[in-house]
Amino acid sequence: MTVPLANTSLFRKDAFIHGEWTPALNGARRAVHNPATGAEVAEVAECGADDVARAIEAAVAAQAQWRNRTGAQRQVILARWHDLVMDNLDDLATLIVTEQGKPRAEAAGEIRYAASFLLWFAAEAMRGYGDVIPPTNPATRLSVIRQPVGVCAAITPWNFPAAMITRKAAPALAAGCAMIIKPSELTPLTALALAELAHQAGVPAGLVQVLPGDGVRLGKALCASPAIRKLSFTGSTQVGRILMAQSAPTLKRLSLELGGNAPFIVFEDAHIEQAIKSAVAAKFRNAGQTCVCANRFLVHDSIYDDFATRFARVVDRLHVGPGNAPNSVIGPLISAGARDKVETLVRDAVTKGAGVLCGGTRDRAGALFYRPTVLREVTPAMRIAHEEIFGPVAPLMRFGTEAEAIAMANDTEYGLAAYFFTRDHARACRVAEELEYGMVGHNTGLISNEVAPFGGIKQSGMGREGSRYGMDEYQEMKYVCTDIT
Ligand code: ADP
Repeated sequence: MTVPLANTSLFRKDAFIHGEWTPALNGARRAVHNPATGAEVAEVAECGADDVARAIEAAVAAQAQWRNRTGAQRQVILARWHDLVMDNLDDLATLIVTEQGKPRAEAAGEIRYAASFLLWFAAEAMRGYGDVIPPTNPATRLSVIRQPVGVCAAITPWNFPAAMITRKAAPALAAGCAMIIKPSELTPLTALALAELAHQAGVPAGLVQVLPGDGVRLGKALCASPAIRKLSFTGSTQVGRILMAQSAPTLKRLSLELGGNAPFIVFEDAHIEQAIKSAVAAKFRNAGQTCVCANRFLVHDSIYDDFATRFARVVDRLHVGPGNAPNSVIGPLISAGARDKVETLVRDAVTKGAGVLCGGTRDRAGALFYRPTVLREVTPAMRIAHEEIFGPVAPLMRFGTEAEAIAMANDTEYGLAAYFFTRDHARACRVAEELEYGMVGHNTGLISNEVAPFGGIKQSGMGREGSRYGMDEYQEMKYVCTDIT
């Protein structure tokens, strides 16, 4: 029950409340498991509503001080947190591999990505600009100032145990807010290690707190509190709806980053090699367990067979294995439930006529490993064309015209990420504008970075994270009208 870390202060199993490591008030604990082996890794504090109450009290007091710090003071602390995350990159990556399962290189990449939000928002802390508005009445002066929203809460998922925390906590702190974090039950260890580094960086007690525990119970307690002015959630659309409803009585501000059903369109004039390389990146990262993973491949009739054969050849060579094995590129799925869902979707597609070009079965590496799979002749009648797969399965569908491709791409309740491949500039402009998605990749399958606005439309949620727009989510705009007569 230990994880080999160089910096043992990062292996934390208690909650982090008011600057202290503390068990849950009722003493409850929950086991965290390694998805590659099934072995228990740690028993982590399982917080309840009374722990939430303690944390909110501490956050309110901490935020009252923090909001008066200058942007420069906030910047220094966020930059220090960034540096400590980078200094401890190997250990943090080990924690991710151990509790989440992704290959080590991807885990290290996630830590760099997570750190990038700390540095980006450290800089943004200095740019809380307002506005001066030319008045309609010469006897008045009108201005707009930006102020922190207040105490915020974040509920985060298991697929990016580090990045989903910094992407929310960094802008909150930069804007002058406090942040209470409820990490996924499956991956609390990375979140707790980040809290330790925040503490070492000089983040004041109560400003960043981590309460591991049950989503339903803690979600209710966080939503019910009028002291929490904003909730930022990343997870499923179904839970997003519950949180929105639960936030109605206190009219909380919300950022919801929910499910996706990303189309990946390959037009007949695409650079095929580039499309295949990008398809592998967009589909198989984190074993397909990201909300921006390509979920449906729409390929023009005239190149369909060529694309399918070449793509499947590359996919079939992707090595499956535990995240800490040097040659692994596809790790385990997060849980038996996730694996079962993938199996069910593949079975449904095959029963309705889809062909398996490669994969299509579990892998020998362990109970939660699934072979990277390419399915051909997938149709809208199959569940896999509509549901978020969250696994290493690429369904290929055909289209004949640009209008048909766009109609198929938009035929979903989701609107997070979309990808398309064409070398025709005019078509690129048209398609980018027609796709009903918050993010569009043109000739690329990798679009996320700290300077760009991440978020969706339709039932993929609301709000944007990262970029300069990410600050808006944690700021209130206040209009001040002065009569100068
Ligand atoms: P995923 O499919 O990524 O597990 P979930 O939406 O189920 O997505 O989980 C994401 C986060 O939401 C986790 O931290 C989980 O504990 C939390 N969660 C799950 N159900 C609820 C709920 N009813 N209310 C609040 N949070 C929840």
